[in-house]
Amino acid sequence: MIRRLLDKPGSVDLARFQATVAEAARLEPEVRARPELLPPAEAAIGSAEFCAVMREAAVRTLGQRPYDVQLVGTLALLHGHVAEMATGEGKTLSGALAAAGFALRGRRVHVISVNDYLARRDAEWMAPLYQALGLTVGWIGQGSTPEERRAAYSRDVTYAAVSELGFDVLRDRLRTDPADLLVPAPEVALVDEADSVLVDEARVPLILAGAADPGRAAPEMATLVRRLSRGYHFEVDDEGRNVFLTAKGTDTVEKALGISLYDHPGTVAEVNLALHAHALLTRDVDYIVRDGRVHLINPSRGRVALLQRWPDGLQAAVEAKERLAPSETGEILDSITIQGLLTRYPEICGMTGTAVAVGEQLREFYNLEVAVIPPNRPCVRVDEPDRIFATADDKVAAVVEEVAAQHAAGRPVLVGTLDVAESERLDLRLRARGLAPVVLNAKNDAEEAAIIARAGARGAITVSTQMAGRGTDIRLGGAAEEDGDDAEEAVRRLGGLYVIGTGRHDSSRLDDQLRGRAGRQGDPGGSVFFVSGEDALLTAYAPDAPLPDADPDGVVRNPQAAWTVGHAQRVAEGVNLEIHRNTWRYTRLLERQRAELLERRDRILHGDAGARALEDACPERYAELRESAGEAAVERAGRQIVLFHLDRCWAEHLAHMADVREGIHLRALGRLNPLDEFNREAVPAYRQLLDEIGRRSKETFESVDVTRDLAGQGLARPTATWTYLVQENPFGSEWDRVFARVAAALKGRRRRR
Ligand code: ADP
Ligand code: MG
Repeated sequence: MIRRLLDKPGSVDLARFQATVAEAARLEPEVRARPELLPPAEAAIGSAEFCAVMREAAVRTLGQRPYDVQLVGTLALLHGHVAEMATGEGKTLSGALAAAGFALRGRRVHVISVNDYLARRDAEWMAPLYQALGLTVGWIGQGSTPEERRAAYSRDVTYAAVSELGFDVLRDRLRTDPADLLVPAPEVALVDEADSVLVDEARVPLILAGAADPGRAAPEMATLVRRLSRGYHFEVDDEGRNVFLTAKGTDTVEKALGISLYDHPGTVAEVNLALHAHALLTRDVDYIVRDGRVHLINPSRGRVALLQRWPDGLQAAVEAKERLAPSETGEILDSITIQGLLTRYPEICGMTGTAVAVGEQLREFYNLEVAVIPPNRPCVRVDEPDRIFATADDKVAAVVEEVAAQHAAGRPVLVGTLDVAESERLDLRLRARGLAPVVLNAKNDAEEAAIIARAGARGAITVSTQMAGRGTDIRLGGAAEEDGDDAEEAVRRLGGLYVIGTGRHDSSRLDDQLRGRAGRQGDPGGSVFFVSGEDALLTAYAPDAPLPDADPDGVVRNPQAAWTVGHAQRVAEGVNLEIHRNTWRYTRLLERQRAELLERRDRILHGDAGARALEDACPERYAELRESAGEAAVERAGRQIVLFHLDRCWAEHLAHMADVREGIHLRALGRLNPLDEFNREAVPAYRQLLDEIGRRSKETFESVDVTRDLAGQGLARPTATWTYLVQENPFGSEWDRVFARVAAALKGRRRRR
């Protein structure tokens, strides 16, 4: 606690960076006069001369002179911090200058973007700057070929979305020839929208799978649960994270299946998945159905998450619910969480508009400190207090009226909703009111960026789900090139962009991301959130703290209401943090094991460790083969054999540990700590895995013909592999659910006291 008091997140002292930047201003005329701009020497990186040269390079190549605060941001990044800089402050340029600084120090830099569109946009936009400094830059997108990827990774600075980078790392994981490796050793990660990537998506596992095996029970179970009614056959808990059969429901299910659930725990799991899909996941909120497939909506970004799926059983259950053909499933060959992927980098830094709110998590999970960079021009946005209503109907009606009123004056309005379904409902309401909003819901990123860029035009009404991590700047008057200074001036006089949130998010940070779309670079602007007592945030996280009564017009004016809304949000934030912590405790051990095993794998892949181990284990066989086939052939075969079994055993270990984790709460109920129990299983299982690799390798080595193709002799690798992101089971594991309830109860108790 004392450390927290003395050393609050957000307390990185900027004074020395500011002094350096002030000094850089004095060097500016001299640097400007240099006919040729030599990049700063390694020793000078981070100095005043470095800043001056970087600034001049940006002026000459991009026509933009970095503001002092941008250079302060660059220095904070170079010192390994997370720079908090508001939307529109120019983080792309600040980040590129820092990336260049790292690269000039001889470090390879991966700039992690939120999506492919931004990776490419930023790499291409900043390319002239890097070039002027003698540095090379590349980018990777989903469509990049292996050759393009290899080329991009060979550059000094590589821009890529976190998923693409992760998939490449996973695919490398199965190579048997060092020449096929794509991703170089991690050195520096510079993470854009750092809170989104490092915190919101930290737990998301990236998966490499091979070989198919679709489930069969899902359609049958979907048909069964479709007949059940809520409140009679099953109940859903207040937070909407949990569904369970009533006695009546259990009865009905047992009759329909003709079995006793008690004797069939596997069936219980299948029924539960079907119920989850049926009762807890809502079409157009949690997922959409398009082209005969289920597309998940990413809860932290509010748009379709391509290539994402739920854990296999749940995915199949949702597909069955929607009567779709099951999509391919497969054995998981390897997986890594986004947090695991990023903690591989010895140096991490990042930038975002909202970092302070997650300062504690950044410190706890990544050892990162936040540097709060002041805006270039003071923010004059007017953030109004929430407008609180008793019912959702009154709230929506008020939102529509407010949009209409602002629009009548010509002021651009950006409405941020919590989900796609709400966007669509609001669109209908606004149209019925004679307005013509533009609705963004999860189309492609480039198209969206173009629309968002125009959201500041006079009279524009834009409706969108969460704006966090969108990375597109909203200029008043519209996108600069097409419109003009007059358009901008007109919108300024109207008060700038007006942001309306149709509900508070379950984190104040996401609220701030939305507000931050208005008032960029000292622009005028305003923001307001509309809240109702029926919003999920309140019903889930403050069920026992009802709002005070509304006035006859439906508005709740009692100041206690604002406290309740803030309280619900704080409870939600606390629960999410506990879940993050808890998941990380489980994944951390597996990821350590993974890293340890990979080190062994590398020694085998790049050397003769596999052959030497086999020579030790079966000296006679080794000598005999060396005699008949030659040393080189035996070494090559030894490598293939050990790698094969290592990869197989790891896949089996992952499957085993997933089972253990799902089942652990049953054994742990009551006295034991589930995490201890999990570790008690995982540690010996890993030791066994190492023995097993040795045993199987030896057996194969004794029997195969090393001069023939090994794949034909039982060492066939999966012919097809594919990669995807697993969106965490939205209800968490059984243990997470228990934990969340306990955490919520504790918070509630603390408050009542
Ligand atoms: P952020 O990521 O911080 O929201 P961007 O990097 O997208 O902001 O930049 C926002 C806009 O500001 C861009 O259009 C960019 O060209 C512009 N910009 C950035 N730095 C400067 C500068 N020093 N001078 C003028 N314009 C700038
Ligand atoms: Mg940005």
